[in-house]
Amino acid sequence: MSQSIETTCVQGGYQPENGQPRQVPVYQSTTWKYDTSEHMAKLFDLAEAGYFYTRLANPTNDAVAAKITQLEGGSAGMLTSSGQAANFFALFNIAGAGDHIVASSAIYGGTYNLIKVTMARMGVSATFVDPHCTREQLDAAFQENTKCVFGETIANPALDVLDIELFAEAAHAHGVPLIVDNTFATPVNCRPIEWGADIVTHSTTKYMDGHASTVGGAVIDAGKFDWNAHRDKFPGLTEPDESYHGVVYTERFGLAGAFITKATAQLMRDLGSIQSPQHASFLNSSLESLHVRMAQHCKNGQAVAEFLEQHPKIRFVRYCGLPSDPNHALAEKYLPNGSCGVVSFGFEGGREAAEKFMSALSIAAIATHVADSRSCVLHPANTTHRQMSDAELEACGITPDLVRLSCGIEGTDDLLADLAQALETV
Ligand SMILES: *Cc1c(COP(=O)(O)O)cnc(C)c1O
Repeated sequence: MSQSIETTCVQGGYQPENGQPRQVPVYQSTTWKYDTSEHMAKLFDLAEAGYFYTRLANPTNDAVAAKITQLEGGSAGMLTSSGQAANFFALFNIAGAGDHIVASSAIYGGTYNLIKVTMARMGVSATFVDPHCTREQLDAAFQENTKCVFGETIANPALDVLDIELFAEAAHAHGVPLIVDNTFATPVNCRPIEWGADIVTHSTTKYMDGHASTVGGAVIDAGKFDWNAHRDKFPGLTEPDESYHGVVYTERFGLAGAFITKATAQLMRDLGSIQSPQHASFLNSSLESLHVRMAQHCKNGQAVAEFLEQHPKIRFVRYCGLPSDPNHALAEKYLPNGSCGVVSFGFEGGREAAEKFMSALSIAAIATHVADSRSCVLHPANTTHRQMSDAELEACGITPDLVRLSCGIEGTDDLLADLAQALETV
């Protein structure tokens, strides 16, 4: 089973049998019909596998989740309605009131807010660590009640690369799993499970969908973390679940299935957040070209970063593919075939130059999005971080002149020519 990532992108997950549709069918049905209520009762008790209500499971979603699970090298996976839901489910499946999370400080703003504000209101506390901290600094962040460690392979928007092995070793030394959000790298460029991560999450809204059409998320479990070895920390997985007639997830579903079954049976049941089967079908079609698109995103990202780095009107460039970038060594280790298409840079002419440059672009559109097949550009100081003063912006590493360009899959020369003409107006 050493199938290439390319073939898995195209053919993973759904395996039609003789006479069945070649394309994953869209099961556009909320519910399933059964002959007896005894049969239905067995499904409700998780005593038998089967579909009965789309909030809990749908064959289209399962086929697409299986493809992403194969791409990441995991044992089980689920789709969610958004990346936010995926990260919340991954964290809340093991960390509840009174528990604690260790997280990298360089993460997506929505996830930072989820952990820092919303989960805090649910009684889950957190300690944020610098993604480039030492092992000693990382160890110091753990508490008795720590239940997991969280980070992003390539942070959005800071573009820091996570030292996955270091974070995994620290997590395991403290008896907890490492959760990695692999949205920006995608399994085409990095498979965190191969470096020790236990659970991988995605906002499939980004490169996996790649066409700015559908919001979605995914949670993938490696099936390797031994919950039973730390029973006291993870009673939700290792002790009877009263809401399911006393099922013990690790006993009934093994290490390979316990985490995702619990997330489906409890969190999806109680909180909803299922992806629509129609969206799962769009996502599946997009995944078929993920490997082809990522190569062009990375080619464009690298060419744009190199072009901007030597341009006299550019003050700085952040892209881990540049040898001058502080994340370059980590990128060589974890992302040898490329990172992503997102490049951050700043202007000698400051905020005003950034604004002029952006309005002069013709290929890259101004949009609050990244990882789209069409190039797009965002000025955080004027949009997502608009409420902050220049001093506050500097403090969180977003200078007023910073522009984030998400290189699409257009022709490289066209993108460079567009940047060059826009820079002339500055
Ligand atoms: C966008 C994003 C999310 C949130 O995903 P949504 O699909 O927008 O809910 C989470 N993590 C990362 C790294 C992201 O870029």
